[in-house]
Amino acid sequence: QWERIAGRLRDEVGDAAWRSWLRPVVVHSLKDGAVRLALPTRFMRDWVATHYGERLRVLWGAEDPSIRAVDIVVDAAATSAGKTALAKPTLVASSAPAAIAASPAAPEVEELGAQLDPRLTFKNFVVGKPNEFAYAAARRVAEAAQVSFNPLFLYGGVGLGKTHLMHAIAWHIREHDPSRRVLYLSAEKFMYRFIRALRSQDTMSFKEQFRSVDVLMVDDVQFIAGKDATQEEFFHTFNALVDQGRQIVISADKSPSDLEGMEERLKSRLNSGLVADLHATTYELRLGILESKAEQMGVPVPPKVMEFLAHKIASNVRELEGALNRVVAHSQLVGRAITLETTQEVLHDLLRASDRRITIEEIQKRVAEHFNIKLAEMGSARRSRQVARPRQVAMYLAKQLTSRSLPEIGRKFGGRDHTTVMHAVKKVEELKASDQNFSEDVDLLRRMLQG
Ligand code: ADP
Ligand code: MG
Repeated sequence: QWERIAGRLRDEVGDAAWRSWLRPVVVHSLKDGAVRLALPTRFMRDWVATHYGERLRVLWGAEDPSIRAVDIVVDAAATSAGKTALAKPTLVASSAPAAIAASPAAPEVEELGAQLDPRLTFKNFVVGKPNEFAYAAARRVAEAAQVSFNPLFLYGGVGLGKTHLMHAIAWHIREHDPSRRVLYLSAEKFMYRFIRALRSQDTMSFKEQFRSVDVLMVDDVQFIAGKDATQEEFFHTFNALVDQGRQIVISADKSPSDLEGMEERLKSRLNSGLVADLHATTYELRLGILESKAEQMGVPVPPKVMEFLAHKIASNVRELEGALNRVVAHSQLVGRAITLETTQEVLHDLLRASDRRITIEEIQKRVAEHFNIKLAEMGSARRSRQVARPRQVAMYLAKQLTSRSLPEIGRKFGGRDHTTVMHAVKKVEELKASDQNFSEDVDLLRRMLQG
């Protein structure tokens, strides 16, 4: 089976990527609908899990429909000793919500839920403007002995930290108040359990199991949109728990009111507690996250590289982490220090994918951000050095990176004349020739805009 799947992947990802990342994969075990794959280092594990986890699950599922989860683990002995290696895996990342883990604390509840990722703690969560409210709310729920707001509803786009905060709540409670039973699971898994109970005509024990927890956390509830029977059951479970004063935490990709295919009464229930959203990351937050991850990995990453990544990979934190992991893994494998050049090389597929036509607006925004001036200054009449210089840099980059004519560029900068743009371009070229730092700055900006 693995041979066939590996062959498919090789075609999909290309030889080079396959050799670096997928060839070392060893099939560890296959049981209870879960495949366990092993890689020799944590970096490789993280990288494969981030980039191919979902694909692996789909391909395994297509080969064998009974496979619901693909766990990717670290096992130093795996690659050398081959399939007989029995060393205990040190870390488990699951690409599927159906991974099952046992815990000695409360086995009956554990078995219902999903495994908690040891890395997803409050300590490892970097707080910034876009997530401070959600973070504070999550902390409150984790620390409060009593129910504070019910439910706590966390929402936001993919990869912004919803699952991280939920795991963090669970870890915190487990550590500080182990007698409270915490159940974390995805909505998908909730549905799966429910359907299985229906099929085996065992909904009674299903209900009992869910209704005996102190804290219920259901991740990605948008999944049950349009699934009427599951919603119904979820609604009843929800009400039963709230009535008993149990805490509920929910996440979704949209606010309760914006969830489509969700019953009105469920929406209003979900809206009745505290709704906290995770906003898109800012440059500062991304930089902070990179610094924290690099420190956790104990790898020196040059600030320039982190700035570059924080600028280039703005989509979500998962992608950002994946990019950092790749850069770090590459440097460890080839035994070379991380530089801006190797970073661009290693990530060139990713950076190319994000390549599009660069607009003048974008250039203005980046440059303003970089020099810490207001975006409005790009078109303002002020001529103090502090704003004039960045404005010139932006004009220069607009000339270099777009196909706009000088008059067109001038118009975008508050209706300036084309001679002003020409002058700016000349000025920046002169400065670049005479000032090394300035030159590096401009080049960095250009690379960030270009990829
Ligand atoms: P979501 O569930 O919202 O799609 P996740 O919680 O799975 O996103 O986050 C994606 C990845 O990004 C995880 O590895 C998580 O640890 C990381 N991450 C997200 N936000 C932060 C943050 N503020 N600090 C540190 N890591 C973060
Ligand atoms: Mg999530």
